[in-house]
Amino acid sequence: MSKYKGKKILIVGCGNSGVAAAKFLVKHGGRVMITDTKQRTELAEPLKELGDLKVEFEFGGHTERSFLGAELIIVSPGINVQNHQMIQLAKSKGTPVTSEIELAVGELEQPLIGITGTNGKSTLTVLLGEMFKNDSKPAFVGGNLGTPLIDYITQGQPGQVAVCELSSYQLELTDKMVPAVAVFTNIDQDHLDRYGTMENYIAAKKRLLKVCDRNSWVVLNYDDQVLRGFANECSGKLIWFTMKDPMTIGGEFAEKFFGAYYDEKKNAIIAKVTGKEEVYPLEQFKLFGEHNKQNLMAALCSARVMGVGQQAIQNTIGQFKGLPHRLEFVRKKDGVYFFNDSKATNIQSVQASLSAFKRSPIILIAGGKDKNMDFAPLGPLVQSKVKLLILVGEAKEKINRALGDFAETYLVGTFEEAVLMSFQKSRNGDIILLSPGCSSQDMFRDFEERGDYFKKLVHQL
Ligand code: ADP
Repeated sequence: MSKYKGKKILIVGCGNSGVAAAKFLVKHGGRVMITDTKQRTELAEPLKELGDLKVEFEFGGHTERSFLGAELIIVSPGINVQNHQMIQLAKSKGTPVTSEIELAVGELEQPLIGITGTNGKSTLTVLLGEMFKNDSKPAFVGGNLGTPLIDYITQGQPGQVAVCELSSYQLELTDKMVPAVAVFTNIDQDHLDRYGTMENYIAAKKRLLKVCDRNSWVVLNYDDQVLRGFANECSGKLIWFTMKDPMTIGGEFAEKFFGAYYDEKKNAIIAKVTGKEEVYPLEQFKLFGEHNKQNLMAALCSARVMGVGQQAIQNTIGQFKGLPHRLEFVRKKDGVYFFNDSKATNIQSVQASLSAFKRSPIILIAGGKDKNMDFAPLGPLVQSKVKLLILVGEAKEKINRALGDFAETYLVGTFEEAVLMSFQKSRNGDIILLSPGCSSQDMFRDFEERGDYFKKLVHQL
């Protein structure tokens, strides 16, 4: 009999993961209630998804009664458990509080590859999924991106492996999962509106390291200061990736190098994870920027230790086109190139995008909803790469104060104006880049809506 049969379960948050958890729990006999601060009218989409599933609802706010009456509480990633009085109250009375991801990993019968970091998670997750697919190994690809992991469990776990993007929010309530592979792309400032300090943010990310055991592979970015420090606290088997030749780093690291690095002269990735050296030429790799080579190295190492063949990886390198809204080429008009990087919602991702362009001058459109970020680190790159900075959205004044001295800067009132001005002020050969460095919710539902609208405006020019 299912452990959820007849159990009163409260799901806090009627988003993607909440809905998916409800489907799973009802299937297993749980008595489910979903509570959300939003009104019913604002939740049309998730409610459609639930159909006529037997679930009770509490909309437009929470009541203490629902929390105290529950035998299990599932919290959606968007909710900050630490600040939530009712969750804390239920917890203090002994009610278990967990997340959709924890629920799912408790049921998962296959190896889990968990992917986290500040940037690159989605790209890496999909890229790795493609490697498995090209080797005829069916894999679940999702988590924080696309399909929630619990949906895969509800569907009967039809693959061989679960490749799962994990956000810091999802990791906050994690202590049960033991990943076969844990991948960390990089760590830089993000979500400081929720975490307050970098220490808290890093601690959330580090949960994925803490749950590894000695059989877990742990894939770390050597070029990232914070992640280099993670090695000291790692109980798993370390795999490094780096843009530098280990010989230039020297010492024991070079002698015993286990992982992958980029060889600039050969324009290839050299991997040492199988006992012999493997060379993966990058002539056919379509994604540009150093950061995408890092994503590729991390995916490649993870794939190899999980038994994906070398040829399948090389085929994926040639085929993978990247994801929309991540440095996505939109069009060329009158000699001007437009790129949509709407998913760049923090400083590091804007840095990665600006660095990826080697030549042409850039007209940068930035701004949106601030996440309590410090924009000053962008100064040097803006100075060297950006000829015109167009700022829009809630954070425009704050960004102007940090960066306005580094390039000719305009503050505009609407997104339409930003796009129009960028084109009016452009010259032959310029790059117009939307890379906001902020989240989108001041003007849009999410980064996808923002990126799609940008592309629409660009096509209308
Ligand atoms: P995430 O899922 O972590 O948000 P994405 O793959 O969706 O990562 O990319 C988000 C943004 O970060 C995009 O602007 C993308 O160009 C940039 N990016 C992708 N990979 C990296 C990386 N390894 N380092 C820095 N920026 C990256």
